[in-house]
Amino acid sequence: MIRVNDLTLPFDHAPDALSKAIAKRLGVSPKGLQDIKIVRQSIDARRRTSIVFVYAVDVKVGNEAKVLKACVGDAKIGPAPGMIYVLTKRAKQPRTVPVVVGSGPCGLFCALILAQQGVRPLLIERGRTVKARIRDVHRFWQQGELDPVSNVQFGEGGAGTFSDGKLVTQIKDKFNRSRKVLDELVKAGAPKEILYQARPHIGTDHLVNVVKHLREAIIALGGQVRFETRLTGLTLKDHHVTGIMVNDNEPIDTASVVLALGHSARDTFAMLHSQGIAMLAKPFSMGVRIEHPQALINQAQYGKFAGHPALGAADYKLVHHGDHGRSAYSFCMCPGGQVIGAASEPGRLVTNGMSHHARSCPNANSALLVGVTPQDFNTDDPLAGVAFQRQWEARAFAVGGGQYHAPAQCVADFLVSRPTRFMRSVEPSYQPGVTCCDLRQCLPEFVADTLREAIPAMDKKLHGFAMPDAVMTALESRSSSPVRIIRDETFQSPSVQGLYPAGEGAGYAGGIMSAAVDGIKVAEAVISDL
Ligand SMILES: Cc1cc2nc3c(=O)[nH]c(=O)nc-3n(C[C@H](O)[C@H](O)[C@H](O)COP(=O)(O)OP(=O)(O)OC[C@H]3O[C@@H](n4cnc5c(N)ncnc54)[C@H](O)[C@@H]3O)c2cc1C
Repeated sequence: MIRVNDLTLPFDHAPDALSKAIAKRLGVSPKGLQDIKIVRQSIDARRRTSIVFVYAVDVKVGNEAKVLKACVGDAKIGPAPGMIYVLTKRAKQPRTVPVVVGSGPCGLFCALILAQQGVRPLLIERGRTVKARIRDVHRFWQQGELDPVSNVQFGEGGAGTFSDGKLVTQIKDKFNRSRKVLDELVKAGAPKEILYQARPHIGTDHLVNVVKHLREAIIALGGQVRFETRLTGLTLKDHHVTGIMVNDNEPIDTASVVLALGHSARDTFAMLHSQGIAMLAKPFSMGVRIEHPQALINQAQYGKFAGHPALGAADYKLVHHGDHGRSAYSFCMCPGGQVIGAASEPGRLVTNGMSHHARSCPNANSALLVGVTPQDFNTDDPLAGVAFQRQWEARAFAVGGGQYHAPAQCVADFLVSRPTRFMRSVEPSYQPGVTCCDLRQCLPEFVADTLREAIPAMDKKLHGFAMPDAVMTALESRSSSPVRIIRDETFQSPSVQGLYPAGEGAGYAGGIMSAAVDGIKVAEAVISDL
């Protein structure tokens, strides 16, 4: 196959325009193209009057060597690199079963790779199956009844199950692990376009099936999956893991434990700390969700082409470096989505965002965050960040008036520090409802000050961002983990052999794709140590 990069076509091009453009670039007849695979498709909307799709494609032609020779000197054409993840050595089942803790993307992919390599893991998850979880989460959103066992953070599929399912990541991996993740997601029912879109997303409506099918694949390969099974202790001997305790009363023998806990396993972090597992406080972020009409974002990004079905709902990414050393940035933008309640502890309020695959809801939302560093709480307690998050989440719960109504304010009022009394043209999507307030009551001062400075500056980059009626909803506090569970070059804790901290909760990933890739790396490490 030949890789052709940077093929540019109008976004509304005719179906055969791509093959014609490829043939022209390669100097062959369109009939000579035996197979075309789109490797990447991105939107370039920098010039709003002529928005284009940019393609990378792999093409099969009759006389490949001759065609390649004729293209020597064109840096955008060359032999197609392989895209297949090569499984590492197959391993024998060890004497005790390796345990993967947590069924988020990290744990699911770790368990899947172990199972595909012939090692039958036990995957344990504190929450419920995705089917039961959907019921629990909807009851929370509709009636404000939080289930600490089964919620947006805990349960099958982990934190990303109720999400936009964006798969964008900055990680580079020459072993094609990201491609392996995409291939497995498609096999499990994700839309095929994720294989080539530059900014792929699955949508929560597909994700709920995808995670179930991943579980079924693990079981079909001989793995076991147990729900409502919470890691509550480690059994250690001479700095080695010899077993775990689940649900405070059931011991399980094992010599390998993967900690794919996610960023909200606060009780488990405390347990690990009390058992002497090395960990540090790490930076994280705090802020709000901001909601605008999706039509406004489409207009700002695509001008006269706003709303064209080939372009879909527009997204954005913004950053503002403030005068006082703090920065604000948009994060986890959900086009055509909803702001959702994402709490996991009683009396503490947390927001996040999600979209369905169609991204067809009227509002766009995004986290608007400011960095928090361990210096902000001035102690060397590794769990100080957890305490800081809890303090502000409890404040948001109280300001919201209890019952998990979220504190919210219009941008116009926030910018002049005036409490909002009623919402205007933008209807907040958060359920079970919002309480109009002054958000300064539930944001650290440096976060509120930085956001106030950032919003008008961001409006200069994305026209309409400071729309007076736009809605800000608090508190967005779980965008990343406040701790790092230390691991060495063998992916194991330096405190305990056989213990593998992994994924977002341990501080080695940020997002679905990087967590899944980290799960694969850790599975490889577990296998190489067997
Ligand atoms: C609402 C929402 C929307 C998001 N949207 C996106 C997005 O669009 N794109 C993106 O890339 N990222 C998104 N994220 C972030 C993404 O979901 C996380 O980065 C990712 O899920 C981290 O994967 P993980 O496997 O490391 O941890 P998690 O997904 O958090 O999984 C950890 C699992 O471990 C379980 N667990 C914890 N403690 C224990 C214990 N003691 N015993 C047993 N089980 C335990 C938990 O119940 C959980 O299921 C979103 C997150 C949320 C909450």
